[in-house]
Amino acid sequence: MNQNIAIDGPAGAGKSTIAKLLAKKLNYLYVDTGAMYRAMAVYFLRQNLKADMEQEIKEACQQVEVEITYKEEEQQVILNKENVTCFLREEETGKMASAISIYPAVREKLVDLQRTLAKKTDVIMDGRDIGTCVLPDAMLKIYLTAQVEARAKRRFLELQEKGIECDLEEIKEDIKQRDYQDMNRETSPLRQAEDAICIDTSQMTIEQVIETIMNLHKKKMEEKNL
Ligand code: C5P
Repeated sequence: MNQNIAIDGPAGAGKSTIAKLLAKKLNYLYVDTGAMYRAMAVYFLRQNLKADMEQEIKEACQQVEVEITYKEEEQQVILNKENVTCFLREEETGKMASAISIYPAVREKLVDLQRTLAKKTDVIMDGRDIGTCVLPDAMLKIYLTAQVEARAKRRFLELQEKGIECDLEEIKEDIKQRDYQDMNRETSPLRQAEDAICIDTSQMTIEQVIETIMNLHKKKMEEKNL
């Protein structure tokens, strides 16, 4: 069985930054599952579907094929044979991804793909339901979180660095809304798995978070005599 690591948590907690760095250190494959929901969102937006059109979205799911490849160690998301990786980070796409991720038809499709990837090799997979649903037997489960203020500030600085004009209060409200949506949906809501270890990164540097998880990983490997 593969030694998979699951990292779940709310938007802006630093999951992808941490998971990418860990994957390099441990020589695991990094799988960003949020990017898959975002790719589905790109498809539905292009079809002019609105987030509340459940029946149409369910039917459209049958026309969507999402694949994952890697280019220079960076995950690429292929939507119906087109590489859409460069369209995934837009705000509109993130909002649509959160809204359509409530539908079982969308989730089932992507969870299958995620499990297939995790069967092939050791993965560090980040998302909202990895420890609770996608990989319940993951060797190590981390619930990475941070206070809303800290997450909003990080997102604000990130956007500013890219030269994108933004408003801190607006970002904070968006994050709160995303949290609410992700934690209160019926299918696979965001929550900490019983056997996950919670790390609050509000006051931590990236290096401290990495060191904490590396130590937890080492301990797990020793317990398993690996
Ligand atoms: O992590 P990211 O912000 O890219 O995810 C976009 C949206 O996709 C999240 O707000 C969440 O609603 C959804 N998602 C999910 N399950 C996952 C990963 C992402 O529902 N495993």
